[in-house]
Amino acid sequence: MHVVIIGSGVAGVSFAEKYRSLSTDAKITLVTRENDGYYSRPLLSRGFSKDDIEQSIILKTFDKLRASGINIISGAEITAINRSDNTLAVTGSCPKKSLQYDKLILAQGSAAFIPPPFRAYRDLFFCLNSLADLKALRKFRQVFLDQNRLNQNKPDQNCQPHWAIIGGGLIGCEVASDLAAVGDKVTLFHAMDSLMERQLTGEDSTLLLQVLQDSGVQVLLNQAVQGFVKQHEKVAVKTDVLTEFDALIIACGFKPNIELAEKAGLEIGRGIKVSQHLETSDKNIYALGDVAQLPNGKLYAFILPIRNQAFWLAEFIAGQEKKPWSPPIFSTKAKVHGFEAAHPYNL
Ligand SMILES: Cc1cc2nc3c(=O)[nH]c(=O)nc-3n(C[C@H](O)[C@H](O)[C@H](O)COP(=O)(O)OP(=O)(O)OC[C@H]3O[C@@H](n4cnc5c(N)ncnc54)[C@H](O)[C@@H]3O)c2cc1C
Repeated sequence: MHVVIIGSGVAGVSFAEKYRSLSTDAKITLVTRENDGYYSRPLLSRGFSKDDIEQSIILKTFDKLRASGINIISGAEITAINRSDNTLAVTGSCPKKSLQYDKLILAQGSAAFIPPPFRAYRDLFFCLNSLADLKALRKFRQVFLDQNRLNQNKPDQNCQPHWAIIGGGLIGCEVASDLAAVGDKVTLFHAMDSLMERQLTGEDSTLLLQVLQDSGVQVLLNQAVQGFVKQHEKVAVKTDVLTEFDALIIACGFKPNIELAEKAGLEIGRGIKVSQHLETSDKNIYALGDVAQLPNGKLYAFILPIRNQAFWLAEFIAGQEKKPWSPPIFSTKAKVHGFEAAHPYNL
């Protein structure tokens, strides 16, 4: 049997490793766009305060996974799923143009959600959703710091970049906190009247606001951001007024990567619809992780339930698990420096 997995995040890699340990004879191929190895996405939001992050974020190299008997095709992209003959179209570093599968595991994860009014300005902002995004942000910051340090005419306080972050959810607050921790100026725009309003109680949200403000972040609530304007080296955020920044980060949530499945005619909702057995509307194709939508309408877009799905699915396909998948009890917390919520998050 040939099992093909699309995606090298926690969903794809955890499944591949577990299935490898349960099935000695199956051929396992994992195809991924990534080149850097299997990395920790949660650590992305600590990507400024840790100097060695570009190395320490790597959990396993692709060579190490290959050595464990998983055929990794990195730097490659699956562009189509042909369900009539169980093949995948592949581009990039893969020597073959087509791959055959007996079972296909969709673990393509998610992309940053860009609200429609902002899409026209794509070249004016950063996101923080992948290691490539983090590298681009760190490179921008380093060039900015180097140029400003060299420029003798500028006073010291202009040396650090001034960031605008759009979105006061989990990732926006985490990134704002980490940039402030390395001494950058940060202004956080949020559309609602409290931060992380979907996850936190009012009391915890007020505490989070205080912690961010104490760390130097300027928090602007109830902000209707209309768009952005390029102004020489700066970029301005348009609300009722125009305010200039050195760089912008959009942190407005995530969007499951459903396009491949949609083109292949699989059932789609916000994510790829799966049964409680993580089966899509095609019995040879499963989905898990950020991309999968369970029958209760939920996407379990957190590390702990995703690993749990991956292990469960490996056992199910290996014939060792019969009961449907049920979500484990789990919690999360915002990685904001100095913030500890008093109440559990609403997930
Ligand atoms: C900044 C940040 C902080 C977070 N913090 C936390 C936290 O503290 N705790 C927590 O539990 N969760 C956190 N999360 C969420 C968590 O990281 C995700 O839920 C989880 O990593 C999703 O894993 P995944 O394997 O489903 O998808 P991903 O990690 O997105 O992996 C999908 C992979 O598929 C590849 N891919 C997609 N399409 C194709 C294609 N067509 N061909 C080839 N390859 C393809 C992508 O390149 C990617 O490597 C955070 C997320 C972010 C972005």
